[in-house]
Amino acid sequence: MRVSWEVDGGVHHLTFRLDPEDEVTGFCADGEPLTLATNSCRIELPRASRDLHPDLPALAAWTVVAPWTRRAVVFDRPISPELAEAIRSGWAVEAGPVGAAPRSGAGPATDGLAISYSGGADSVAVAAMLPEAPFVHFQRVSHPRVPNRWTHYRADVLAGLAERTGRELTVVRSDLEFTLARPRPGYPEHHAVAAGALLLADELGLGGLAFGYELGSRWLGGDRYLLRFTPDNPMWAPHGAWGRAFAAAGVHLVLPVGGVSEAVTMRLALGSELRAQVRWCLRGVNGPCGTCGKCLYKELIQAAVERRPLRTTIGPGRPVARKWQEPPPYGGQEMIEYGCARVPGVEETVFGRAAAYLGATEVSTSWLDRCYPPAIEEIPERWRGRVRDFMTEEVGLMSDREARRVETWGTIRGTP
Ligand SMILES: [Zn+2]
Repeated sequence: MRVSWEVDGGVHHLTFRLDPEDEVTGFCADGEPLTLATNSCRIELPRASRDLHPDLPALAAWTVVAPWTRRAVVFDRPISPELAEAIRSGWAVEAGPVGAAPRSGAGPATDGLAISYSGGADSVAVAAMLPEAPFVHFQRVSHPRVPNRWTHYRADVLAGLAERTGRELTVVRSDLEFTLARPRPGYPEHHAVAAGALLLADELGLGGLAFGYELGSRWLGGDRYLLRFTPDNPMWAPHGAWGRAFAAAGVHLVLPVGGVSEAVTMRLALGSELRAQVRWCLRGVNGPCGTCGKCLYKELIQAAVERRPLRTTIGPGRPVARKWQEPPPYGGQEMIEYGCARVPGVEETVFGRAAAYLGATEVSTSWLDRCYPPAIEEIPERWRGRVRDFMTEEVGLMSDREARRVETWGTIRGTP
């Protein structure tokens, strides 16, 4: 893989060329097969940036090209030995040329922490926890050479909501998701959402970037990943491949809500001053669409948190409700258990069958109301105290017995 950047004012153009051993179908760190659509993309920053440490554009490029790289990656400027070693040990890929001093040793200018802010409940919960941290928001824009068949995705609406938070904000516009043909446009690696933040890291003095990944994504193998306890999650563990690569570039991955469930992030988001700007739906304009799978899933969680019946017009025959008519396992199953155990009258809703399969109770799901302490311990020391204080005061920590529920997830009866 050969990678080159061209910079024109605030616009960074990335072009990459596959080597003979590289393949157009590769794999994301979570195992999802990904097919390449095109070999170029751009990242637009609001202004031209100063000289960047070369590890930053290199790592930004790596978040895009990693799935399709087999044996070697050649960047257009020398990188630090630390970043090269992280890529070698994390992916078994030779990275070079090597020859830059590490950025991580740069000192006081790299103390800052920004939030990779999407506007969903999880990132709003992070924002509530870190009221001083600036936001970097990724906005999808069209690619000049790839048709946009996802016009219902309203990235413009989400960027507008981020603007209305009144927080210090940088919106990064990029077409990098269109490098992906299959399964659909999206981040080649989940970390590509941070590509713009990496290019801004020197300007913002960042030593860390906070993400809204919660307990399920970090520890329970949420979503596309295998449903089991995953302390070594290659995407989000600090000692995982991506955690080491970001640390090598002096921008630590920070997961302030990595120890709490989506019920807790929902409660924190709806109780925060940014409540009016929370939006997990990618489709709605003047509010959530109410008909997509994300709206249905989050409605179950919100209804559970608010202790009220489900408000939805979606019936069990609709495609977005079909999976809840089948037996488990389900993606985000811990939250389906939590919701089914708490929503009054759930048996009469589209989740009725799932509720019967799972047989969850308030007692069996009470661990999801508290924070898993090891998630606090893995936050870099300079930010750990703030997260620990917030979790202790606002949420409460899991007992040893509750923590065991996290650590045996996927291996005990009632879970997949
Ligand atoms: Zn929706």
